[in-house]
Amino acid sequence: KVRVRFAPSPTGGLHLGGVRTALFNYLFAKHHQGDFILRIEDTDQTRFVPGAEEYIQECLAWCGLIPDESPLKPGAYGPYRQSERKPSYRQFAEQLVADGYAYYAFDTAEELEEQRKLQPNFRYSHENRMQLRNSLSLSKEETEELLKAGVPHTIRIKMPEDQVVTFTDMIRGQVSFETKLIDDKVLLKADGMPTYHLAVVVDDKAMEITHVFRGEEWLSSAPVHLLLWEYLGWKADMPQWAHLPLILKPDGNGKLSKRDGDRLGFPVYAMNWTDPKSGELTKGFRELGFLPEAFVNMLAMLGWNDGTDQELFSMEELIDKFTVERISKSGAKFDFEKAKWFNHEWIKKTDDVVLLPQVKEVLAANGITDVEDSYVERVLAAVKERMTYVSDFWNQASFFFADPVQYDVDAVKPKWNDNKTVFFENIVKDFEAQQSWTAEVLEPMFKGKVAESGMKIGELMMPFRIMLVGGKFGPDVFVITELLGKEKVIERVNKALA
Ligand code: GLU
Repeated sequence: KVRVRFAPSPTGGLHLGGVRTALFNYLFAKHHQGDFILRIEDTDQTRFVPGAEEYIQECLAWCGLIPDESPLKPGAYGPYRQSERKPSYRQFAEQLVADGYAYYAFDTAEELEEQRKLQPNFRYSHENRMQLRNSLSLSKEETEELLKAGVPHTIRIKMPEDQVVTFTDMIRGQVSFETKLIDDKVLLKADGMPTYHLAVVVDDKAMEITHVFRGEEWLSSAPVHLLLWEYLGWKADMPQWAHLPLILKPDGNGKLSKRDGDRLGFPVYAMNWTDPKSGELTKGFRELGFLPEAFVNMLAMLGWNDGTDQELFSMEELIDKFTVERISKSGAKFDFEKAKWFNHEWIKKTDDVVLLPQVKEVLAANGITDVEDSYVERVLAAVKERMTYVSDFWNQASFFFADPVQYDVDAVKPKWNDNKTVFFENIVKDFEAQQSWTAEVLEPMFKGKVAESGMKIGELMMPFRIMLVGGKFGPDVFVITELLGKEKVIERVNKALA
């Protein structure tokens, strides 16, 4: 059975690239009727940020990427937080030492700092490990004494001096790395916590992970992981890897970062995130007014397509169509205008009843609470074509709920004349006498009266719109007339004439 995991570190808000990683894992799993697992990689306690795990869970829930197993919904492969697996990592690290694939390193932080001062490009590796303080350079007795005395130490992998590590990435095909260029990564830290490299291998094994989709930035770590799978004797269980293409800045120059969002004025996080230390707020797509369907659809297209021109996909369709073969190797440029287009399209596609709760929130935020759902729905149907965000509902439709606060007088005044006044005085009377109040009836009625007056339609339609709306915007003026209802329309025309 296919089992994939999304393995974020709880270090802050979730970047859209992180959500895309989760999404691709999810789509692959669901396409193959497999399981999608959330694992929290919290072994770096210096980078742990309170609230980040909850934030991640909420983000996934918002996007509809519900894990089959997670810290909140443990399955048979727990624990789902790495820190809770702490006791078992040492055993594997020790086993690697015993088998000659790893060694104890006693160098203190100060000593390593000293080395870095001497050589700016210092790397703990096969080139210098014999000059440093570890169980390879020290005698067996010395090592044992240090261990017995409880001297703090790490365990490092002993990278082969000259080996080529090759594997097949599901997206990139065959990739090779030379071990001589890789340093002796720490596997177990002095505090007994594993580093990412050891933890990721032990956990993927323990959780029976079959496929790993992760960002391209992890590709260079893959040879270390591969050797660990081999050294621990688990090679046959190693998952298949797919390293996802980077999400690039809009101009294609490098990886998209949080700073690009700040600079160019768009969110990079999935949801609002407030840093608990600094109190700094980073804005998210959710709060900006993105529908989760649009956000997910937009992310899916960053590095994937189904081979046709289709761009709008529901989650079900994505699950159905998702294949690794259609993930691109090259980076995907993030285009915020395109993201907005997805949202606009999804607002149009989404049922009015589904949008209703969010729309009512927008109304409530503007002090409108006492309205019938059916009325809100009818207004929504009339204006949704014009909305990029749900919050646009207020700009587009406030006049359906409250009298305009401003009138575009300049658009009407210069060409106003008594004939127009008379026309509107008369149309009020006609409205009053009107029995059925629908756009279909009102439009020909109004136009007939215009024809009788001898004036041009535009000369009267535009002022009529401004009387009702306040400005030169909004949906069809007769749809507005119908929705506002007879009483309000008459009231607004009279008010404008006064
Ligand atoms: N904890 C890593 C991260 O924060 C996970 C990398 C992986 O998927 O192996 O992205």
